[in-house]
Amino acid sequence: MKITASGTTHVGLRREANEDHFLVDPERGLFAVADGMGGHAAGEVASRLAIETLATALSPGMAPEEAIPREQILTDGFQAANRRIGEEIRVREDLRGMGTTLVAAHYLGDHLVVAHVGDSRAYLIRKSKIVRLTRDHSWVNDQVQLGILSEEEAQRHPFRNVITRALGSNGPMPVDTVTITPEDGDEVLLCSDGLNGMVSDQVILERTVTEGDNLEAATRSLVDAANQAGGEDNITVVLLRFTREMDQSAQS
Ligand code: CA
Repeated sequence: MKITASGTTHVGLRREANEDHFLVDPERGLFAVADGMGGHAAGEVASRLAIETLATALSPGMAPEEAIPREQILTDGFQAANRRIGEEIRVREDLRGMGTTLVAAHYLGDHLVVAHVGDSRAYLIRKSKIVRLTRDHSWVNDQVQLGILSEEEAQRHPFRNVITRALGSNGPMPVDTVTITPEDGDEVLLCSDGLNGMVSDQVILERTVTEGDNLEAATRSLVDAANQAGGEDNITVVLLRFTREMDQSAQS
């Protein structure tokens, strides 16, 4: 499959700084979104370290494909990012308490591994339907799973920003993964909660599908939708599209 991709980030309408970072690397098949937290500059540092460390950890040649399960290649990158942020916290007093979410997708041998920590999300858009590939590591999502809150109540709840897992914690980090086999025309969206906290999955679907093949226009449209709904947080979207590679001889 051929991958085309586009990513963008926007500070939103309420925040002074953008603490999100993202990675779009179609050649390596590696994509990620990180949403930092910790106040002042710390969140920006945590999300940047996560993205940089993941990109370095998955450098070509680091892991022989045969020897390591493809999920572990990606989750090892998450562990490296977690350790890296922890090291920075130990040497810089002012960054204590910083952390970051990380959602990443890695395309390897016809499979797409999606991994995440925190409440940044991955969605699959297949045949005009949208499916969540990740479950938020958040307090409100725990309440939804328990049947205590509805999705709508969770969306507006005052504790909606409280996450239960973030990179930058001590010790090994539990990382959730899901592996899919992309089909021709599939799109995968990675985003920070500045998008899905402001608009419904249905709006995300509509904005993505309406732009067709134009991924850059779709990412802009998604950011616009979040800002039109209030833009309360930083908004980051990475959109990838899978297309079956045409055999040259089959084209007329
Ligand atoms: Ca956020």
